[in-house]
Amino acid sequence: MNEHPAHTSLFRRSPMFGRGGWLIRYAAAVGASAAALLLTTLTKPYLGGRDFTFSYAAVAISGALGLGPGIVATLLGVAGVDYFFLSTSDHVAISNSADFLSLTVFMLVALLISGLASRLRRAGLVAKEKRQEAERLSGELEEHASALADQAQELEDKAVELARAEAFNRAIVESYGEPMVVHDSEWRFQYINEPAMGIFRTSRHHLPESLIGEKLWDLYPDIVAHPFGINLKRSMDERTPVSFEAYYPESGQWSDLTCYPLPNGGLMTVWKNVTERHQADESRRYLSEVSALLGKSLDYEKTLSDLARMVIPDLADWCRVDMLQEDGTLDLLAVTHVDPEKVKWAKALARKYPPDISAPVGMPNVLRTGIAEIYPDITEEMLASGTSDPEYLSLLKTVQFRGVIMAPIVSTHGVLGVLTLVSAESRRRYGEKELALAVELGRRAGIAVENAQVHRAEKVARAAAVEAQKAAEEANAAKSQFLAFMSHELRTPLNAIAGYVDLILAGVHGPVADAQREALERVKRSQRALLGLINDVLNFARLDAGHVELDISDVPVRDILADVEPLVVPQLEEKGLEYGFSCENGALVRADQDKTQQILLNLISNAIKFTDRGGSVTVHCEGDAKTVQFAVTDTGAGIAPEKQNAIFEPFVQLDRTLKSGHQGIGLGLAISRDLALQMNGKLSVESEVGKGCRFVLTLPAASPYSD
Ligand code: ADP
Repeated sequence: MNEHPAHTSLFRRSPMFGRGGWLIRYAAAVGASAAALLLTTLTKPYLGGRDFTFSYAAVAISGALGLGPGIVATLLGVAGVDYFFLSTSDHVAISNSADFLSLTVFMLVALLISGLASRLRRAGLVAKEKRQEAERLSGELEEHASALADQAQELEDKAVELARAEAFNRAIVESYGEPMVVHDSEWRFQYINEPAMGIFRTSRHHLPESLIGEKLWDLYPDIVAHPFGINLKRSMDERTPVSFEAYYPESGQWSDLTCYPLPNGGLMTVWKNVTERHQADESRRYLSEVSALLGKSLDYEKTLSDLARMVIPDLADWCRVDMLQEDGTLDLLAVTHVDPEKVKWAKALARKYPPDISAPVGMPNVLRTGIAEIYPDITEEMLASGTSDPEYLSLLKTVQFRGVIMAPIVSTHGVLGVLTLVSAESRRRYGEKELALAVELGRRAGIAVENAQVHRAEKVARAAAVEAQKAAEEANAAKSQFLAFMSHELRTPLNAIAGYVDLILAGVHGPVADAQREALERVKRSQRALLGLINDVLNFARLDAGHVELDISDVPVRDILADVEPLVVPQLEEKGLEYGFSCENGALVRADQDKTQQILLNLISNAIKFTDRGGSVTVHCEGDAKTVQFAVTDTGAGIAPEKQNAIFEPFVQLDRTLKSGHQGIGLGLAISRDLALQMNGKLSVESEVGKGCRFVLTLPAASPYSD
């Protein structure tokens, strides 16, 4: 700040002209006095004796420069006038009293003027000082004012900045599309954004003109004990964020709510719409639960009742399942509600008022078309249009219907029934998602019903098959018993025939002519053939009935072949076949010796039977640590690949004609394979048509195997 105002006079700043500039003032007084005397001299003739006229002026000027200069001018005026104009003889002495008087008057008046002038000057100076002081003060004030103005500007800038920041913050808050509410520490509404207002508007509570300033608990006293109120209070009291989920039945929306305690002691609550996610979760949960449920039992009546129980109370307040009967009517399979009393009531009502199967909409229509129906907002008019019975209508009204979904229970064969979901006291609003879920539940229920029906049919068929098998087994057992009995009974007379033929041949009853002998030999051959057949039948019957007993032991393979060889060599030679028997030394088989021989005899007999004269039959046996193989190889007709399995079945003969001339009834290989299996072995064949066969009997080797 400048201490000296810019307009301060030059006099104040220079010692020559300032307060200390007394010399100049006195010099001025002297000058003024001299000028007055000079002017008096020049104008003497015109003054008319008023010689002090100019001296008064000089005194007045000098007095204006101070009392001292005024006195000096006075004295100089007195002395000058006296010297130059009053006494011409003696310039110093005052000769007459008139002069003296005029000098005295001049002096007194001049002194008075000087005094007045000097006072005036001082007053002027004081006034000047005061003015300067005032100017200084005003300058200072101006400076203060300008500083204040600066401050005011600064404050204004800050206010603008703050307003801008607040607008920015508000814009951020308002751009938050989800509902948001701020309460102060006294639970008064402080801020509510538009989406939150939407929630309050759809609430069934009275909505005041403005919520701001209203206390939450005064407006909504019933939510104190509600999870919503409990969570808000917890967050406020514990000063910690709290999140929870809430359902708004009126709008059918699910929200994730989070409360954040604010630094001012208040609470901010924000909603996040999670309806989609919730519906997806709900659908997944229901579908997996339903799948588990539907797969659990094949009793579909029970399954559908369980399904109807499962959907309450989350998806529906009421659920009913109606199944289509063969006569085209509907049978109420299940009704569910959390209150068993209401279930009883609903069942009685459903019996009293069965659905009108010809109705153009609702359950009958879903049955006809297989298309689900949804009614999100049931009105009284809609209820009234559904029935003409006033009593039934008033009963229906007590259910407080909000919404209904009817989904078909469908299988691959068509619509089997209807699944009905009802929203009532929960006020849940049904939408597309619930409809899709209900349709899927109906579809899965349909699959379950179909599976159960197929299973029931299968069970019936299986029971019939078991019955049939039992009957067949009984018949088979009877057959085996009959065959065993018959074979046994046939063998006795056949043996008697052989015995009597032998006696006749031995000549017991007299000499036998050659022709007779030949005929008797034929009788005997036929008897043997017949006995062989009967033995086969008996063996098979015994095997089939499980009456064969095995005598398993470790048998040298060589012994078996040694026993078989003499029995077949005559036939081989008779038919003119080449033959050979070979065996590894020391091989031991763990088997029933007789049964093994029986199998080998059958295989060799077949080889002889089906190999033409000039062919060959060889029997070879070899073994390793685990098994022993007997191979019977011939060069006969062979067996086509597609028939190689069939020949092991009983009564199968590839060339069953009377002309074939082969003996046997097709039981040999069947018996042989069964015996091999019973001895833990197997019988197989390799063959090429026209080149012969190689039958291999594999049996367990006796351990340890030694060379
Ligand atoms: P059978 O000898 O009493 O006819 P098998 O059960 O022993 O009954 O044989 C069944 C059928 O297998 C024979 O009828 C024959 O057609 C065929 N078969 C068996 N062994 C041979 C073989 N070595 N060569 C060609 N065919 C054979």
